[in-house]
Amino acid sequence: MIADRVRAVRERISRAAQRAGRRPEDVTLVAVSKTFPAEAMREAYAAGLREFGENKVQEGFRKAAELRDLRDAGLRLHLIGHLQSNKAKKAVACFDAVHSVDGADLAQKLSRAAVEAGRLLQVLVQVDLAHEPTKHGAGEDALYPLLEALRGLPGLRSSGLMVLPPFDLEPEAVRPWFRRLRELREAATARGLLSGGAELSMGMSHDFEIAIEEGATLVRVGTALFGERRRAA
Ligand SMILES: *Cc1c(COP(=O)(O)O)cnc(C)c1O
Repeated sequence: MIADRVRAVRERISRAAQRAGRRPEDVTLVAVSKTFPAEAMREAYAAGLREFGENKVQEGFRKAAELRDLRDAGLRLHLIGHLQSNKAKKAVACFDAVHSVDGADLAQKLSRAAVEAGRLLQVLVQVDLAHEPTKHGAGEDALYPLLEALRGLPGLRSSGLMVLPPFDLEPEAVRPWFRRLRELREAATARGLLSGGAELSMGMSHDFEIAIEEGATLVRVGTALFGERRRAA
């Protein structure tokens, strides 16, 4: 039952927030529904979830159509996977938030598409901290200029930072990456490039509690809510 899993994950979020002296309601659970059918998302919605994460534009586009009724009632779709700039327009048509902005060219295309569609798109900059060849994101040296560019782009609401750290079976091993993202938020805030409580999108099924201890405001949780994915995603 998805409802039981939602309850269990929410309890874990609350406990982690309390340990860190934070309020549980300051952590938003983004249910990562990639590879799972729209029906599973309906079940999760019925259990109280409103924010859903997808890593592919095509899949998000299809689900947005299948879940039109729920979107009108408040379901929001987040793109958490890499976005090629030639798919910016399609992404704007189906996503409410994009966590993976990693360059000025993509930002400009998203801005143009959002203005055309008459929408305000929430965007986060994905930061590449570990420089793994398989992962995307803006390097630390490119972060401030990109945030600066985002400030001037209409149709976009620049709301924070995202990180996808190297996978490690031992959750404690990823803590330094989460901490680094928080430090970057603080530095960007001091420069007037982000607001004080800007979002930190970090933490997945096996490490979201550590991410919350380090300040995560958006945790992206798939497996702990929907079970194991059948195919790689
Ligand atoms: C798949 C995915 C998640 C969720 O991973 P789980 O381990 O299933 O919780 C989170 N973030 C990103 C970017 C993902 O691609």
